[in-house]
Amino acid sequence: MEKYLSQLNDAQLQPTIQIEGPMIVIAGAGSGKTRVLTYRIAYMMSKGIDAFNILALTFTNKAAREMKERIASIVGSTEAKNLWMGTFHSVFARILRSEADKLGYPSNFTIYDTQDSDRLIRDIIKELQLDKDVYKYKQIRSRISSYKNSLITVRAYFQNPELIEADTMARRPRMGDIYKAYVERCFKAGAMDFDDLLLKTNELLTRYPEVLAKYQNRFKYILVDEYQDTNHSQYLIVRALSDKFQNICVVGDDAQSIYAFRGANINNILNFQKDYDDVKVFRLEQNYRSTKNIVNAANSVIDKNQTKLDKVVWTANDDGGKIVVHRSLTDADEGRYVASTIFDNKMNHQLQNSDFAILYRTNAQSRSIEDALRKRDIPYRIYGGLSFYQRKEIKDVLSYLRLIINPKDEEALKRVINFPPRGIGQTTIDKLMVAANGYNRSIFEVMKNIDKTNVKVNSGTKNKLLDFVTLIESYQVMNQTADVFELAEHVTKSSGLIKEFNKDGTPEGVTRMENIEELLNGMQDFVEGQKEIADATGSLTEFLEDVALATDMDNDKDDGDKVALMTIHLAKGLEFPYVYIVGLEEDLFPSAMSMNTRSELEEERRLFYVALTRAEKQAYLTYALSRYRWGKLVDSEPSRFIQEIDEAYLDIQTPIEEQRINPMLSADIFGDVDSNGHKTVYNKVRFKPAKQPTFKKGQTKQAPEKYQAPTPKNLKRVSSATSSAANTNLFDGNLAAGNMVKHERFGTGEVLKIEGTGADTKAEIKFTGVGVKKLLLRFAKLEVI
Ligand code: ATP
Ligand code: MG
Repeated sequence: MEKYLSQLNDAQLQPTIQIEGPMIVIAGAGSGKTRVLTYRIAYMMSKGIDAFNILALTFTNKAAREMKERIASIVGSTEAKNLWMGTFHSVFARILRSEADKLGYPSNFTIYDTQDSDRLIRDIIKELQLDKDVYKYKQIRSRISSYKNSLITVRAYFQNPELIEADTMARRPRMGDIYKAYVERCFKAGAMDFDDLLLKTNELLTRYPEVLAKYQNRFKYILVDEYQDTNHSQYLIVRALSDKFQNICVVGDDAQSIYAFRGANINNILNFQKDYDDVKVFRLEQNYRSTKNIVNAANSVIDKNQTKLDKVVWTANDDGGKIVVHRSLTDADEGRYVASTIFDNKMNHQLQNSDFAILYRTNAQSRSIEDALRKRDIPYRIYGGLSFYQRKEIKDVLSYLRLIINPKDEEALKRVINFPPRGIGQTTIDKLMVAANGYNRSIFEVMKNIDKTNVKVNSGTKNKLLDFVTLIESYQVMNQTADVFELAEHVTKSSGLIKEFNKDGTPEGVTRMENIEELLNGMQDFVEGQKEIADATGSLTEFLEDVALATDMDNDKDDGDKVALMTIHLAKGLEFPYVYIVGLEEDLFPSAMSMNTRSELEEERRLFYVALTRAEKQAYLTYALSRYRWGKLVDSEPSRFIQEIDEAYLDIQTPIEEQRINPMLSADIFGDVDSNGHKTVYNKVRFKPAKQPTFKKGQTKQAPEKYQAPTPKNLKRVSSATSSAANTNLFDGNLAAGNMVKHERFGTGEVLKIEGTGADTKAEIKFTGVGVKKLLLRFAKLEVI
């Protein structure tokens, strides 16, 4: 038997060597589902199945890349080249490219990212003269997304009185009109949004039986990881493609289904056995990832869910340390605790930063953690922010490139038609847009044929418009011979972008230039890298597709040795030796918005299960008794999820702060500087926090003794003079440009310049982590280092 198969246990081996027929592997976290999928592909290939006939769908492109590398290391990279692996979006974007004409799309269609979609929706709301406070573009986008993922087209929407009624009840009676306009505008721009990539694939496979047959014959073997989080649209695609040969292997864990809010349907995994005949079901029970304490704790929590498939998860690993539960007074204290224990763990156990992950329920929680990490000089990386490709300057460059490929691309055009400024004002652009909608042509076509249209602009403006058309057309000519890198380099220079960003010499400008340089480097890598991939041409279209679908997870570039910060949703499938789950408080986790129904609460519990099962060696659960949320200090109670863990697996710590608590000594000065530099300072008196809640087995929820929050009476306004006196002595008064300083929250930085005099003296400081800040010295608590 092949040597690599010995790296599987018996239960894993069975599904790995079961090649034919429909099958499902349902198993708990860390039991080797992804490993089975990977080895199974290698095994299939070693049995002579052509890589060309295999399709593997993963949750992230990064996961696909890693899987492919692993397979290549077993079967050889030449063989692995032909495998189709990736997310649903990236795989079907490729298929749509070659079939686009059938759907009336150009093969070089643009993929709109969420920024593009948002901008378009905002424009439409404006054009329809709707109230933007009622028609909130983000809500509209998520509505449209959920229609699309349920395959509700515009026509289907208008034929469905219930949907119309629901939107009317939600005070958005014009929702259908927005949806219609949005779909039409995307189509006219030759653009698909992310959801279209699935919706249009379904349309293609349903309307064109010959296309369906072609891909059914090609993808004789289909594998899907994280099947529990597929949505309806994805489910239908998988069903259609696997219908002929029924060689479909899905792996997943119903207990880790956490994307219902984005349309994922847990029933896809629960009902898989009904969808195909003779489904073979495999279960894996041994967890290889985590210690006994972690596995058992996770089991005890997920046990509380009613809707679940019965599963056993055990591990032969060591007991490991108990799960540490830590209470802090405030979110800032929580951050400090996390940073200092990371620091200690690193020292005591010779660990890397990348051995640690900090997971939270909402992105907003990262701030207090970041502050603390910076203070300790612990490098970290936040996942789930803007992807590199969504940064302003990068999107500017990409917009030019998008126009080369698809001049109809409305969002790209609106972005750069007057950037760098070339004297084409908003009024002109509005006129062009109205004309384009009237003629049902693209803005670019209207510009090109401006003389033949009814658009009224003066001759100076007309020339500027025609110059822009000529500029883009000259790039199109160059694109026929130059490679992506050469073209982009030329575009950044000749469009004036480089000059524009270089102009002011501000640190921001420098950073933007560096990013553009990084983009160009990436393009060079892309040109090189494409040689490795079968049937890739290294074309600009391919490059743009890659970047449109890239998330910041996929950007391996600046990985270094850093602590990972991310939401739990993003952590799915990953593992880290040390995991902190922070903000374990009622209303935050479980989220206040997800406590209305049992099913919502069960999804939150699954999310907690996902979080806990990311940990290999040690897990920390932290919560704070009060926390800043939406700019206000709110008090909170520990999450019910902590109490749901069997106490045997917990190490509940008594915080040190509690021992030295003294309302008078712990008075904390905090406040904010307004735009005029005036500071409001409150003297906050802290009260004795709640007693440590007692955890009893089988108890669902126990309200802790109430922690008394500061009331307005406790918040004594003190004059800013008093507080500034206290603060100024931290600053020696001789600060000058070039000094290195340390700030309590922003970390270390270099002083760029000093402005103003006396009490109004301000310093512009470039901080390593957070960029340039202008601070009023009276308040800034700077330390010269
Ligand atoms: P999740 O549900 O979180 O996605 P999973 O079921 O996909 O988890 P894997 O990521 O495949 O689990 O495996 C978890 C860890 O256990 C990985 O580090 C993997 O390499 C390791 N592992 C899996 N099977 C074995 C085995 N038979 N021997 C040794 N290590 C294993
Ligand atoms: Mg996995």
